[in-house]
Amino acid sequence: KDSTAFRLWAPTAQAVSVNLYESGTEGTDDLIESIPMTADINGTWVASKNGDLNGIYYTYTVTINGEEKEANDPYARTTGVNGKRAMIIDLESTNPEGWDSDSNPHAGEGINDAVIYEMHIRDVSSDSSSGIENVGKYLGLTETGTTTENGVPTGLDHIKDLGITHLHLLPFYDYGSVDETKLDTPQFNWGYDPVNYNVPEGSYSTDPYHGEVRVKEAKEMVKTLHDNDISVVMDVVYNHVYNAGEFCFNVIVPEYFSRVNDNGTYSNGSGCGNDTASERSMVKKYIVDSVKYWADEYHIDGFRFDLVGLLDTETMNEVIGEVHKDHPDVIFYGEGWSMQTSLTKEGYSMTTQTNSTEVPEMAFFSDTLRDLLKGNTFSTTEKGFVSGANGKEKTLQKCFMGLSPEWCTTPSQSINYASCHDNLSLMDRIIRSTPEASVEERIRMNNLTAAIYMTAEGVPFMQAGEEFLRSKVKADGGLDENSYASPDSVNSLKWSNLEDEQYQNVYQYYKGLIAFRKAHPVLRLDNAENVKAHVTPVEDLDDNVVAFAITGDVDGETADGMYVIFNANNEKKEVTLPEGNWNVCINDTLAGTDTIETISGTAEVAPVSALILVKGDGNGSTAVVSAGTLPAWMAYVFTILVAVVIGACSVWSQKKAGKAGRK
Ligand code: CA
Repeated sequence: KDSTAFRLWAPTAQAVSVNLYESGTEGTDDLIESIPMTADINGTWVASKNGDLNGIYYTYTVTINGEEKEANDPYARTTGVNGKRAMIIDLESTNPEGWDSDSNPHAGEGINDAVIYEMHIRDVSSDSSSGIENVGKYLGLTETGTTTENGVPTGLDHIKDLGITHLHLLPFYDYGSVDETKLDTPQFNWGYDPVNYNVPEGSYSTDPYHGEVRVKEAKEMVKTLHDNDISVVMDVVYNHVYNAGEFCFNVIVPEYFSRVNDNGTYSNGSGCGNDTASERSMVKKYIVDSVKYWADEYHIDGFRFDLVGLLDTETMNEVIGEVHKDHPDVIFYGEGWSMQTSLTKEGYSMTTQTNSTEVPEMAFFSDTLRDLLKGNTFSTTEKGFVSGANGKEKTLQKCFMGLSPEWCTTPSQSINYASCHDNLSLMDRIIRSTPEASVEERIRMNNLTAAIYMTAEGVPFMQAGEEFLRSKVKADGGLDENSYASPDSVNSLKWSNLEDEQYQNVYQYYKGLIAFRKAHPVLRLDNAENVKAHVTPVEDLDDNVVAFAITGDVDGETADGMYVIFNANNEKKEVTLPEGNWNVCINDTLAGTDTIETISGTAEVAPVSALILVKGDGNGSTAVVSAGTLPAWMAYVFTILVAVVIGACSVWSQKKAGKAGRK
């Protein structure tokens, strides 16, 4: 309130000044004054200004080799429109009510207890059937009670009802590919093009021109999600920037932030034009400070690192260590693919799957399981286990145990998934590889996929909308394999589909799988020794049948034992059960924590389906019923049931059992 202090690291500059502006809009002729800065320790420059500067905008001008350049502050806390001018901000004044007592709703839980749901802020509200007022905004995720035209819950209520623990939001730091001055024009981007790492993206705010608005609204979103028992994961992209030459850090300290090849071009392992030189000390410090800032200031509960294989393990371990000092429950995972990049120093290892033991608190996406389930991501007509590929049994045994033949040694480092924002959606991928299959057969493949990765040891992760057969159909009718800049019509979540019984049944199946997982600690073991002690693959089964016998002697586990069977054949298969009575909780059409039927002796597993049974009490202690949305939801179930009764009485009894299973 009394004064503002500025400090900038610009060791190669001959002179630096700070420019104060009335507005945050680049090009506006409203300079208040330029204050020359004084050289200080370690290549930094300092200045201070008396008075309350909250709401004043600023930039730096650096003189390097006689040339003056204006740049934004790499440490900017917020900016004006399009992130060109930083704003001095009293962060305390942006806190929502109750912020001091706000905390991670899943504090005390480990990464293996997480069920992660990956979503783009715009997609949740951009289809008119969402019923959400704040289309494409942070505030869209603060709206409760939203429904489709016929009363099916959408948005936040839907996500809460599904039962996920962590909402992973695609990048919402300030990125460059959406013009914040043209928000009335249709625009879409995933946002993997960072401009200001410590500033919320302006296009998701209701006013990108006033820097405090985006900060307030991003915090309100986090607060509301926390109040609804949902932890927030931020997708972060430290491996490259939108434009290396124009990135403020590189303007202030030329060629420092990005890796440069011997021939003077930028290293481009990312495929996005440049790679971040994380091995340099002030870049490492910058990444550590940035991640810690989001955890401290915005109460972010997890970070998903884009192309983390381009960042060194020393930096990642320091990031995780520093964040965990104050926030021990924050989870970290990323894309650990191996890539070619030009390091600026010797002796650094990269944060890849193959180096996973060097970064023990970092989990990695399991492309092993992903490709095994549905076929290779890049050969989209290739089949996987669920669509009839042979010879996958042994690898599936490993993956189900949270391990991987090639790289993963513990279930706490395996992100188990079948689809994410990249490439075809799960249903689109199944469609592409099974031209001969019926819709019903494809839904069986979809649900078998989900049953596998949702019950496997490791950390389940899903793309938003997979639970109601998300499809990305282009205007020409083709399936969109890379919708990073595609229109809302392709990317939006089509909530009205949930009014259709076929889609609604898939949704209920996912919801039941999640409830089942949350009810059974034995599916959430966090180390390989424990898994090997409790999970045993069953040998000598038919081809394309994989099963596991799981013991129940784990803390908090209510079942005396569990038997998990996956049948990828087009015909039903019989599997001999261990002695005793077994309660079916998951079959080809229903999933949940309640018993559908009790069997013994031989289990009959329907074509392309999972059969999961527990011994003793099938009900877990942690199954969650979302009381807030129950009445509207029950009304909807009733509508479906009536329709089913009229249609076919034989289906009726199945649905009735299903209703019980859905609790
Ligand atoms: Ca932006």
